[in-house]
Amino acid sequence: MEDALGTIVEEVRKNADLHQSMMQWRRDFHRHPEIGFGEHRTAARIAELLRDWGIEVTTGVGGTGVVGIIDGCRGLGRSIALRADMDALPIVEQNDFAHMSAHHGLMHGCGHDGHSAMLLGAARHLADGRDFAGRIVLIFQPAEEVLTSGAREMIADGVLDRFPFEAIYAVHNYPPLAPGTAAVRTGPFLASADSFHIEVTGLGGHGAQPHLARSPVAPACEIALALQRIASQSVNALDNCVVNTTMVRTGDTHNVIPDTALIGGTVRCFREEVRKDNAAEIDRIATNIARAHGCEAKVDYVWGHPATINTAREAERAATVLTSLLGDRQVITDHPQIMGSEDFAYFLQQRRGAYIVLGRGGSMIHNPRYDFNDEILSTGAAYFVGIALSELAGGPAKPSGS
Ligand SMILES: [Zn+2]
Ligand SMILES: [Zn+2]
Repeated sequence: MEDALGTIVEEVRKNADLHQSMMQWRRDFHRHPEIGFGEHRTAARIAELLRDWGIEVTTGVGGTGVVGIIDGCRGLGRSIALRADMDALPIVEQNDFAHMSAHHGLMHGCGHDGHSAMLLGAARHLADGRDFAGRIVLIFQPAEEVLTSGAREMIADGVLDRFPFEAIYAVHNYPPLAPGTAAVRTGPFLASADSFHIEVTGLGGHGAQPHLARSPVAPACEIALALQRIASQSVNALDNCVVNTTMVRTGDTHNVIPDTALIGGTVRCFREEVRKDNAAEIDRIATNIARAHGCEAKVDYVWGHPATINTAREAERAATVLTSLLGDRQVITDHPQIMGSEDFAYFLQQRRGAYIVLGRGGSMIHNPRYDFNDEILSTGAAYFVGIALSELAGGPAKPSGS
């Protein structure tokens, strides 16, 4: 990274006043968690802060989404987007610190409070001076955690046309890596996440007279077992994939044959072809096994988020900025793929960009004792500033001399 840019990024990282402010915003969001598409208070607070700094704000994009525009003072140029998510999870928090959730049953258990605070920190710095050419689009996205997806809703609401940008970047905190480290990789990084629900219908009856009934119990068991074979037998061994039956539900007692059985599970993979093949295979297996037992299977395959696929140039640029922030050995550029999913994937289907994870340490996300690690707020904000300015300056993706 160019020296001038390196200096700016370092300034952001060491700005104690900015860190203090980010910590306050973060803890305020943590104290007031809101579920996907219900982030009214969070969005209002974000919009208020952005306006305070002279940033042009549009609210209500894709539901509760907020978009801020920062135009540089040095004239026209490229346009780059930075994205943070805002929503919380339906979890009863088990922490007891002062900023714990004030809303029983809701908590920031994934660190989106921290992501929003980091992007606010970057926004305050970028809006102060605006010493760049081009435009930075700040995207505060609702509802990352819900199936309907805030990213998809913002795209459906025209965010790409109303606020055009060439590339987009996002950050997620990542407990398995220590603070002071980060990871990014080119190509598929996080998996797609779909679910399936199968209803096997037979004919109920007396437990003593199975010949007069069509029990759905045996075919349901066979289907559950047969689905386990998809990952090992139907999918190329070189493709990472999970087809996991997580639910089999049928019958209420020992002497009654039920009419129906329900089977459910999750499917994770990294390529669209594998995804489509898996959906077809689940349908084929369930339908035919049920038929062999004289029953019927209705398969509902629910298409969730696609795989999160980083484009090469942008992943490289992200790695360069992270390396200048954290040092060579702290940035993993060949991190294993992650079977979790992320709705940022919808943006990456439409635009170039990269998704990175910042080491957080401590307990895993989506657990009642989780809390974002404020230690990494400054690194996140500095990364956002660095990646945006590096893009707008059109500098090399790789450090000079490498
Ligand atoms: Zn989450
Ligand atoms: Zn998350």
